[in-house]
Amino acid sequence: CGIVGYVGGQCALDVVLAGLKRLEYRGYDSAGVAVLADGGLAAAKKAGKLANLEKELSDRPLPSGPTGIGHTRWATHGGPTDANAHPHLDNAGRVAVVHNGIIENFARLRAELTDRGHELASETDTEVVSHLLSEAFSSCGDLAESMRQVCRLLEGAFTLVAVHADEPDVVVGARRNSPLVVGVGDGESFLASDVAAFIAHTRDAIELGQDQVVELRRDGVTVTDFDGAPAEVRAYHVDWDASA
Ligand code: GLU
Repeated sequence: CGIVGYVGGQCALDVVLAGLKRLEYRGYDSAGVAVLADGGLAAAKKAGKLANLEKELSDRPLPSGPTGIGHTRWATHGGPTDANAHPHLDNAGRVAVVHNGIIENFARLRAELTDRGHELASETDTEVVSHLLSEAFSSCGDLAESMRQVCRLLEGAFTLVAVHADEPDVVVGARRNSPLVVGVGDGESFLASDVAAFIAHTRDAIELGQDQVVELRRDGVTVTDFDGAPAEVRAYHVDWDASA
């Protein structure tokens, strides 16, 4: 339902949680975050309101790092449980993915992954993506390229945002039939399902087009189509009053 991604000089967890709060009005049943820190990936997720996630984070704090993603879920596949909340990880715990929308062909992809030895931990359509990204990354070593390869396998409507512990300064996003907006800051970059999530930090935005993948770094963004060809982007300045 709500998606936020961040890479930059601030504490990613703080930026992501504040962004998720700005998206709360949309309604949701669970929430979760993942951050990259100290060469690894750490995640927390809880059914219920953001307050439940914040309590979990105060009981079991995550390490502080410059790269993170977050999600508020509106369940479509699998009930609103902690296990079904996003982010979803791969079996090695190196990839984390959040997703809005529905992956129509997840049942077949899931069966193929299980045949190849993956153990899926949730009932969601989303979780196939973390395992597929993990496989693609093992052969190409590049998260944006892995996302392009995986998107070509997916049917349905999706906004996907992912991080990989082996690329600690990168957040990757993709979209088809579901919104995703980039925020371009000074030494920091944002991704969100709605500009409201990052408007407190920057008003310089790029709207991702249909079937595009974005690689987000502190000092800029690269946008391609699902085949890797450079994509035309629509940059704009958000001029509405964000304090409302
Ligand atoms: N289909 C996914 C799920 O049920 C994503 C739902 C959403 O858009 O929040 O987990």
